[in-house]
Amino acid sequence: MIKQRLLRLEKTAKKRIAEINADKQRKFEEQGNAFKRAIFDSLSDEHLRLLRDFLAESNPAVDQSLTYTVRDGIPIDVKPGGKLLAWINDRYKDFAEGLPVSVAPVIAEAIINFKLEEGQYDLPDNGSNCEDCQLTVPISITECPLCGGRCGYRAYQFKHSK
Ligand SMILES: [Zn+2]
Repeated sequence: MIKQRLLRLEKTAKKRIAEINADKQRKFEEQGNAFKRAIFDSLSDEHLRLLRDFLAESNPAVDQSLTYTVRDGIPIDVKPGGKLLAWINDRYKDFAEGLPVSVAPVIAEAIINFKLEEGQYDLPDNGSNCEDCQLTVPISITECPLCGGRCGYRAYQFKHSK
């Protein structure tokens, strides 16, 4: 009797866990889709093409990891689409925290043209953001393409920490 009851209970619990996992999976996929929409909506046709070309011709797992590294003192220059992909992948954590994301043309150009100096290993954001909307931007951007706010190293944190 007890054994039967336990088996029933186990069955119910397993069903419930499967439901919870399916729900989590669905929410995860919805969030991923919303992220992709936000990114693609901000990309110009030209930058979207660079990204698509890179994905079609390269092995993103290998190539984009080399995007911003220096070998023998020489910055490795990867295709523009690889740089964009590395930046976009890095923005998911912003999106998951509820922060705005954008690869507006001015941002995309800054990412593509970003040059590492010897000894640097950072991505071009280097802690730079908008003091008003907290958009993460490359260090060379001084005015936010989303809201017009001033951008700089930890600008949001400096403005809002007082
Ligand atoms: Zn802003």
